[in-house]
Amino acid sequence: MKINTLIALFLICSLVINAQDIASYPTGVQKLLKAYPEQIKGYNGSSIIFTNGTKILYKEGEKKTHEELINSSDLADIFKYPYLKGKVESIPKNYDPGRIRNEELLKNMYGSSSAEVQKNLETIIWCPNLVNQKLRVTRINGVDKQLQKISDELDKHPALKDYLYSAGTFNWRKVRGADRLSSHSFGTAIDLNVKYSNYWQWDCRCTSEDTELKYKNHIPQLIVDIFEKHGFIWGGKWYHYDTMHFEYRPELLVEE
Ligand SMILES: [Zn+2]
Repeated sequence: MKINTLIALFLICSLVINAQDIASYPTGVQKLLKAYPEQIKGYNGSSIIFTNGTKILYKEGEKKTHEELINSSDLADIFKYPYLKGKVESIPKNYDPGRIRNEELLKNMYGSSSAEVQKNLETIIWCPNLVNQKLRVTRINGVDKQLQKISDELDKHPALKDYLYSAGTFNWRKVRGADRLSSHSFGTAIDLNVKYSNYWQWDCRCTSEDTELKYKNHIPQLIVDIFEKHGFIWGGKWYHYDTMHFEYRPELLVEE
């Protein structure tokens, strides 16, 4: 057998072994690997491994209350409420897909301070025909490019114009009424026009997670569909709704 054939055989074998390995990883780990190929390079059986060598423990299984999940620092918990693409008819109590975040993951990818995040911000012209606003989002993981694609599509729909005025993107801040960092801190989120938005805390005039809420929304489904197509989830799919809010969370949108 020629040496080239041997090398080819070896490469095919290692690819097959690698694919089998990945199939045995927890589903969430597989999704993270698919969603962030430039950042996350592997899994060692207990932690995900970043290209820079950093490791974050990935542990599933512990039973937690909703309050514990929302404040959780366990990476696997970000997948506790599966995010469903497209139109959703009803939302069960406390079902908040994507509202659980992992700060360690976000800080590793986008920067661990306001200054660090700002080094990676890029300015895009948001919907130049309809709105023409300058917005700053991170270039890491191609978030700026994804938002540009969303802008290109939305800009073709004059009927959506009023909804599209953005109330903001990057802002290093905590979530209102909580001690967790908002996804706006990492330059991965955008809020649309506040005038057409509903936010659970404005309606209940409270910050308690354990409140009976009546869902409200005025954001057209077409806007949601366009964002989802490019890796952004929508806060209008949360029991604790925030309908102006979209954030880049491709790990919740990748197909299994
Ligand atoms: Zn927001």
